[in-house]
Amino acid sequence: MSMTMEKQIASAARTDAPPAIMLDKVNKWFGSLHVLRDVSLSVAAGERLVVCGPSGSGKSTMIRCINRLETHQEGRILVEGIELTDDVRALDAIRREVGMVFQSFNLFPHLTVLENCTLAPIWVRRTPKAEAESVARGYLELMRIPEQAMKYPGQLSGGQQQRVAIARALCMKPKIMLFDEPTSALDPEMIKEVLDTMVMLAEMGMTMVCVTHEMGFARQVADRVVFMDRGEIVEMGTPSQVFENPQTERLKTFLSQIL
Ligand code: ADP
Ligand code: MG
Repeated sequence: MSMTMEKQIASAARTDAPPAIMLDKVNKWFGSLHVLRDVSLSVAAGERLVVCGPSGSGKSTMIRCINRLETHQEGRILVEGIELTDDVRALDAIRREVGMVFQSFNLFPHLTVLENCTLAPIWVRRTPKAEAESVARGYLELMRIPEQAMKYPGQLSGGQQQRVAIARALCMKPKIMLFDEPTSALDPEMIKEVLDTMVMLAEMGMTMVCVTHEMGFARQVADRVVFMDRGEIVEMGTPSQVFENPQTERLKTFLSQIL
């Protein structure tokens, strides 16, 4: 891995920086369904947060609000000190800082792996093509799939596709990475190869918010674990506090179902 790549990722980990992400009493409804209830949360630069909770508890909605794929109706969300509002320039600025990886990869099927990785840097960041390709090859190498650059997504395994999705997000040089159940669509033998690359990113100092039920991953890298249920943050603490010393019946029930 190149030094510049490492420095670029670690630069987000300065301790004097403002919180990377701040949610203050965020509320969101889908019609009459109240899906986020007074959610308050602060993520420091360089911090790794794991979010868990039952299906339908609002995990995806919360992280989609952080890059404004969804809009909240009450409360405040600040990313890198910039408040999320209807101001499109602020939104552009925030989207540049935040990379997102979905359960379903969301790669462009008609573009090669390399083209998937260079599309946004070339068209959004105006990076010269040769430079974008060189950066992309660097991240594909980091994701341990340099030999897949000229293939199409359909020619790759799920684990390889997800690592392309991570490389693609990194090519925009984000300060924050959001992961929404990145391994839930994968066969068991591919989960580890994706988690390994996420551990590597964590060790490089990337600020990460990961929705996942992979407890091993959470124990290995999470500074804090958040447990959500029915739109609320019910418990928050270190992995050992949350997993070994749950305080609520709701968390105890959840843990008994996943462990
Ligand atoms: P999780 O990711 O924890 O499974 P979600 O954030 O996806 O939960 O969903 C929270 C709640 O919001 C669920 O009841 C879900 O059905 C509902 N929901 C999610 N997206 C939409 C939408 N676009 N329109 C209406 N309801 C939605
Ligand atoms: Mg979800």
